[in-house]
Amino acid sequence: MSKPRVAILGLGIMGGGMAARLLSAGFPLSVYNRHRERTTKFADAGALVATSPREAAARANIVISMVADDAASRNVWLGVEGALAGAPEGSLLLESSTLSVGWVRELAAAAADKRCDFLDAPVTGTKPHAASGELFFMVGGSVAGFARAQEVLAVLGREVLHLGPSGSGALVKLINNFVCGVQAASFAEAIALVNVSGLDREKCVAVLANSALASPLIKRMLASMAAEDFTPNFPLKLMAKDIGYAIQEGARCGLTLQTAPPALEVFKQAVNQGLGDLDFSAVMKSLAKT
Ligand code: NAP
Repeated sequence: MSKPRVAILGLGIMGGGMAARLLSAGFPLSVYNRHRERTTKFADAGALVATSPREAAARANIVISMVADDAASRNVWLGVEGALAGAPEGSLLLESSTLSVGWVRELAAAAADKRCDFLDAPVTGTKPHAASGELFFMVGGSVAGFARAQEVLAVLGREVLHLGPSGSGALVKLINNFVCGVQAASFAEAIALVNVSGLDREKCVAVLANSALASPLIKRMLASMAAEDFTPNFPLKLMAKDIGYAIQEGARCGLTLQTAPPALEVFKQAVNQGLGDLDFSAVMKSLAKT
């Protein structure tokens, strides 16, 4: 059977890796990116470059969006030239960006009005996982839509888990990332304390890197620090966005998240210092300056 036609909206760190992966697996692919420069290498690799999300969606059976935030997602789906205006009835639409649950549910309703299947399908994993098809997809939406998505998600992910109705994937992703954000902010403070304390930094790092706190996330921060390389795999400003959305979702569910607001302040301070486009691990640079 021939492969479905796929469109990717957003060719940033994650969407770019996913698009390259789909092309190498032989899926007929259309791509759209707000700034067209990013499309060139995908055109060279055989993708059709659309001038609007609407045009990309019109050419596809399955549309995947991977953009920065709620505003960007609203823009690519519901803008004047948005994907929903172009998607043929019966299309399968996936929103893989990390977004607020409220927006994802609004989008699901708009997709249903167009008689399209819609899934929220955010991911864990970062740049190398997107490029190598090793993402973990957390999916919300109908069981039928989930079944339809298998063919494409199996190429992009090592795990694909259905979590419940629309918004379930988005909420689990925010729960995951707010804990990552709190961990990263407190580890940045820990390193700042080591730096000002007069302790032997190398020995301290040897302890911290081998203790219970050394999660995969902390190990990534330690690796960035050791290499002094803060090239973004996961941009710092997006971590701030995720913590903010998680605080909103907590409030919506009647729960005040107590550790998230101070972590958000730490990340906002880093953004204000001009570090937002660096990797999230650059939050350590922010505290080192104060
Ligand atoms: P990125 O490299 O910064 O790319 C962002 C993409 O969004 C670009 O294609 C950008 O277009 C587009 N965009 C931004 N604002 C827009 C707007 N107003 N209208 C239309 N398009 C807009 O980010 P990323 O790391 O790929 O992340 C994408 C999503 O995945 C985010 O929701 C992020 O939280 C989530 N995520 C990221 C990671 C990670 O490790 N990087 C992991 C899991 C989930 P331009 O090129 O034109 O600016």
